[in-house]
Amino acid sequence: MLKKKAIISQKSNKTAERKTGKAVKKIRRAKKNIATVTGMRDILPQDQKYWEKVRQVAKQISIDYGYDRIDTPVLELTELFVRGVGAQTDIVEKEMFSFTDQGGDNLVLRPEFTAAAVRAYIQHGMLNQIQPVKFFYLGPLFRHEKPQSGRYRQFFQFGFEAIGEENPALDAQLILMGWNSLNDLGIESVIQVNSIGCMSCREEYKKVLVKYYKAKAKLLCESCKTRLTKNPLRLLDCKESGCQELKDDAPQILDYLDDNCKEHFMKVVGYLDELDLPYVLNPYIVRGLDYYNRTIFEYWAIDDVEGKNALGGGGRYDGLVTMLGGREDTPACGLAMGLDRIVAKMREKNIEVPDKRVDVFVAQLGDAAKKKAMLMYENLRPNGSFTIAQAFHKDSLKKQLELANKMKVKFTLIIGQKEVGEGTIMLRDMQGGVQEVIDFNKIEKELKKRLEKYREGAVIDLTADEEEKESSTEIPEEDVADLGDLGDDLAAV
Ligand SMILES: [Zn+2]
Ligand SMILES: [Zn+2]
Repeated sequence: MLKKKAIISQKSNKTAERKTGKAVKKIRRAKKNIATVTGMRDILPQDQKYWEKVRQVAKQISIDYGYDRIDTPVLELTELFVRGVGAQTDIVEKEMFSFTDQGGDNLVLRPEFTAAAVRAYIQHGMLNQIQPVKFFYLGPLFRHEKPQSGRYRQFFQFGFEAIGEENPALDAQLILMGWNSLNDLGIESVIQVNSIGCMSCREEYKKVLVKYYKAKAKLLCESCKTRLTKNPLRLLDCKESGCQELKDDAPQILDYLDDNCKEHFMKVVGYLDELDLPYVLNPYIVRGLDYYNRTIFEYWAIDDVEGKNALGGGGRYDGLVTMLGGREDTPACGLAMGLDRIVAKMREKNIEVPDKRVDVFVAQLGDAAKKKAMLMYENLRPNGSFTIAQAFHKDSLKKQLELANKMKVKFTLIIGQKEVGEGTIMLRDMQGGVQEVIDFNKIEKELKKRLEKYREGAVIDLTADEEEKESSTEIPEEDVADLGDLGDDLAAV
C-alpha cells in the first residue's frame, strides 16, 4: 500500500515536471525574438539612399513622358488576378498570398500591378478621357516564391501603363522609358524584344510548338511536361539546361506572325533603331502571363547574358481590358521594373549614391540658448534652399560639434548665454574652422549667401582681410578666449 502510494506520488511528480517544462518552454518561445516573415526583409536606413535614388529617377521619367501617378490598394479581390493574369500561370497557381477575410471575401496581396491598373481604368470610366490614359505606379508586391538570393516575397516595382492606344510608337517609347531609367541610374542594359503576335497568330504558333516539343517530351523537365499542355509558350523560357538545348531548334514565333502583327512589330523595331537603343531580337522571351500579346520585352544587365535576373520587362496587353469586363478592343501597353534587383545591381556595380546632405548644424549651450535655438530651428527649417540638423537632446557642446563633424555639415551655428544676451550667433565654417559673430536676425540671409558660394565651387574666404585667418579645424586659442562660456567646450573639439 505504502509502496503504491510512493509510485503514485512519483508519477505525479513527473507529470508536474513535464507540466512545468512545457510552461517554461512556452515562456521561452514567447520571449524568443520575433524576426521578419520568410522571404521578407527590412530595408534599413543605411540602404535607403539607393531606394530613394531609384524612386527619384522613376518619378522623373514619369514626368518627362507624361505618366500620372496612381496608387491602388495592396489588397484586391482574388478574381482580378485569376481573370487578368491567368489561372494557369505560376503566379496564380502557387504564388499568391490569398485568404478569406472576416466578411467571406476572397482576397490577395497584389502579386503584380497591371491587372489592378486596368481595373482602375475600367472602374473609373477612364475610357471617356483622352487616350491613352497613362499611369505611373510604385510600391510593394507579394508573391509566395521559393526564397532564394535576389527574390523576395515582398518586392517592389515601379512601372508605367498606357491604356487605350495601339500605335507602335507607344511600345517603342515605353521600351525607351525602361531603358532610360536604368541608364539614368548608371546601369548598362540590353533590351530583349520579341513579338508573340495576337490571339490568332499565337494559336497557330502554339500548335506547331506543341508538336515540336511533344516529339521530345521525354527530354523535358517536369515543369515543362506540364507546360506542354497548360502553357506551351513557357517552354521557351525554361532555365533548365536540357530544355534550353531543345529550344534552339524550336520553331520561332516571328515566322508565324500574320501581316498586321508583323507590320506592328517591324514599326516598333524601326523606332528602336531610330532611337539607337541597344536591343536584341530574342524569340525566346515570352513573359509568363496570359494577358500579353504582340510586343514583349525585358531588360537584361549587360553582364547578365542569359537573362537570369531581368531587371524589368513588359509588353502589350490588348486583351486585358476586355478580359476584365471593359470595352472590347481597348489596346494597352506597359512595363514594370524591379526595384530590389536594380538596387542589388547598383551595389554590385559600386554605383555611388551621395549621402543625404546636411548643410547646417545648430548647436547650443545653456538652457536659455537651447530654448532660443529650438525656436530659431523652426524658423530656419522651411527655408527651401538648405538643410539643417540639430541635437537639442544633448547639452555638451563638444558632443554636438562632434556630431556636426560626422554629418560633414558646411556650417555650424553656435548659440550660448552670451549670444542670447547680445542678439548674435556664432557662425563656424567647419572646413576652414573659421568663426565669426553675426546678427541673430540675419542668419538665414548670411547662410544662403555662403552656401551659394560653396555650391558654385568657390572657396569662401570669410576673413580675407584679417591676419589671423585660420585653416585648421582646431579652434585657435584667441578665438577660444573670445568665446566666453563657449570656450571650454570648443577647445576640446
Ligand atoms: Zn496576329
Ligand atoms: Zn524545362
